[in-house]
Amino acid sequence: SHASFPYARSAPDKLLGGLLAAGVDEKTCRSRHEASAYRRNTPRRPSPHLVAKLRRHEELQRRCGPGSDAYGRAIQQLSAGRSAVDAECKYVVSVCNRGLGNRILAAASAFLYALLTDRVLLIDRGNGMDELFCEPFPGATWLLPLDFPVTGLANITVDAAETYGNMLKNKVLTTDSTEPTQMPALAYVYLEHDYGDSDKRFFCDDDQQLMSSIQWLVARMDTYSVPGLFQVPSLAEELAALFPERDAVFHHLGRYLFHPADHVWGLVSRYYRAYLARAEQLVGVQVRVFESEQGKSPHVLQQITSCMWKEKLLPEVLSAGDPAVAPPPGAGSKTVLITSLTPWFYERIKSMYWEQPTASGEDVGVHQPSHEEYQQFGRKSHDTKAWAEMCLLSLCDVLVTSGWSTFGYVAQGLAGVTPWVMYRPFNFSETPDPPCARDVSMEPCFHTPPMYHCKLKETMDTARSLPHLQRCEDVQWGLKLV
Ligand code: GDP
Repeated sequence: SHASFPYARSAPDKLLGGLLAAGVDEKTCRSRHEASAYRRNTPRRPSPHLVAKLRRHEELQRRCGPGSDAYGRAIQQLSAGRSAVDAECKYVVSVCNRGLGNRILAAASAFLYALLTDRVLLIDRGNGMDELFCEPFPGATWLLPLDFPVTGLANITVDAAETYGNMLKNKVLTTDSTEPTQMPALAYVYLEHDYGDSDKRFFCDDDQQLMSSIQWLVARMDTYSVPGLFQVPSLAEELAALFPERDAVFHHLGRYLFHPADHVWGLVSRYYRAYLARAEQLVGVQVRVFESEQGKSPHVLQQITSCMWKEKLLPEVLSAGDPAVAPPPGAGSKTVLITSLTPWFYERIKSMYWEQPTASGEDVGVHQPSHEEYQQFGRKSHDTKAWAEMCLLSLCDVLVTSGWSTFGYVAQGLAGVTPWVMYRPFNFSETPDPPCARDVSMEPCFHTPPMYHCKLKETMDTARSLPHLQRCEDVQWGLKLV
């Protein structure tokens, strides 16, 4: 029994077209059972192949995950320092210590890699990853056990001897040999923004082949690397079968993996019911200002309003003295949900719609759940609010997001909505013109694609030849699926 909302989709599908496994106890994770009733948009359906693959993967997580005999044996191999030949279970550990949006995108990327290579996914709990989400795999944990013998996973840099790239450079590993070599038990896959050419070989076929016999991979990513996986020839066929709609990869992975924990779902559902449920149209505006000087920028304010008006997402306002227009008969209410670290833009937009009539006569309500002032690390309630706000944005009909922000990418992907993306202002004394553009897809942007040619071993824009990959609207050198 749950609420039924006037503008919710009729007959919500709790299991999201088979994306979620049936039979999970309702008491363990409320959002898993309730969230579909809050959605307005029609979600994309996962392919039957993806659904089948997910069920098999859940079985793998149970058979090989922490607590299993196989896991115990894999930990012994780790202590011995070498990979078992034809290991029964292999693992990928995802580690990311950036903001929550980055962490979610990194975990989703590591999960897709795990799915493609039949590895168990384990998540480092750093930054409260164990408190914000429900367990996604029924009957298994995705959390890296606290007694995992290798420590300091988050402190690894591009220079560490144990990265795959440095093991290649130092000839500890080679893709040229046909002799069976003694494989180390663990390698770091280093894919953060400062990664080098030998790290980029992760995206090459020969290297994937070699890596397949390393039992433990620790993935250090800070963004959405999925478009890079589509560039690996040996993974392409399976990816096409799993995702016939290539613009919905994160839409499916995100809704599969990230269910807000009960305390976060409390924030989402209470706020939605109190302020958003009765709006006929819900416009989400995510304002991410990367420089503190811009926290009260009239140019950014103008960018938001001119984007909304130019794209006709909200009615324009008349001057304060103009006679009010009667609302059109049957006009429903419009509500704007703003998320931002500061209250300044919200206060101005709210006052504007209160003090001035709109040209269409429609009334516009404006809400913002929190204003945390600055990005904070390691404070529990801070991440809880950030996650709740991403989820609230994902319940909107229409989205306007800030370019470059992974926070917005998560919201748009979960929503299944292609946003209008506001260009990041680099010149603080001007409003970008045009202020925004309709994005090319709802997929997150891969900010640091490899641009590396595997055969020639040199820097090259290799993505240009692939039809389903495009440059991002917001980050010029970024790459995204369309
Ligand atoms: P990005 O830096 O925009 O790519 O997004 P991230 O989520 O990776 O990092 C930004 C962090 O700043 C978030 O995780 C939040 O902790 C905080 N933050 C940024 N914008 C907002 C917002 O609108 N609301 C809340 N509650 N927190 C925000």
